[in-house]
Amino acid sequence: MCRYAAAILVCLFVGSFVGFRAYAGQSLHCDRVHDGRKLILIDPGHGGVDKGVTNKNGVDEKTLALVEAQTLSARLLQRGYSVCLTRKSDELLALNERLEIVIQAHPSLFISLHVNYSGDPSVSGASVYVYTNSESGSMLKEENIGTSNPDGRSSDAPSGFVTPTVSRHTANLSGSFAEKLTARLADVTNMLPNGSIRSARLSVLTTPEIPSVLLEMGFLSNNAEAARLKSASWRAALTDAIANSVDDYFHVKQNRGGRSQ
Ligand SMILES: [Zn+2]
Repeated sequence: MCRYAAAILVCLFVGSFVGFRAYAGQSLHCDRVHDGRKLILIDPGHGGVDKGVTNKNGVDEKTLALVEAQTLSARLLQRGYSVCLTRKSDELLALNERLEIVIQAHPSLFISLHVNYSGDPSVSGASVYVYTNSESGSMLKEENIGTSNPDGRSSDAPSGFVTPTVSRHTANLSGSFAEKLTARLADVTNMLPNGSIRSARLSVLTTPEIPSVLLEMGFLSNNAEAARLKSASWRAALTDAIANSVDDYFHVKQNRGGRSQ
């Protein structure tokens, strides 16, 4: 996450520069589109030179986000959804490229996947962010999202301070999904104390009329949580929880198989 003013400026500058290069040329990575199924767009955070947060063992956010995105994509396809990814490989995407992809895909639901980090190794838990229009909303404060990387480099390219407006209807839909997501997550992992649904002015969540959430799957700075994040079996449970929450959102009964609509 871009947690401090200097880091935010760097993130926004890099995002703008890279965006001019490939803004119009970004392609979608999709399966089963245009057949009337609900389309879920999954956004693995970071990529390329932007590793996101890393821990002392060299585990980085961009890799965990991509692996989970690919697993979740497969699971949602099994359940009958169409799925697009903003990236399918270790590539850098600028903020405006991600936003352009969301606009192109125009999904029924947008889920951005990230991993958190705190200077306090005891902090752990998943959390879900939705966009707020409010100036007084959480602004990526340290107490909300954590602190910078161990090497002092803070990075979360899709975040930034912006002033768009998300309609109340879209905000309500995002909030509804966030509630279902946190309820399912609570079955498989601990949630960040003092509110697992948080509002923040994150640019990546501002595409018009598209319900959007940003999921922080856990803290790489917490040894137990870092071990879980690396565990395929634990992430399988996480994946099921996310997929179940998508079914909940679209009022699909679990275990019935078949189409999602
Ligand atoms: Zn991130």
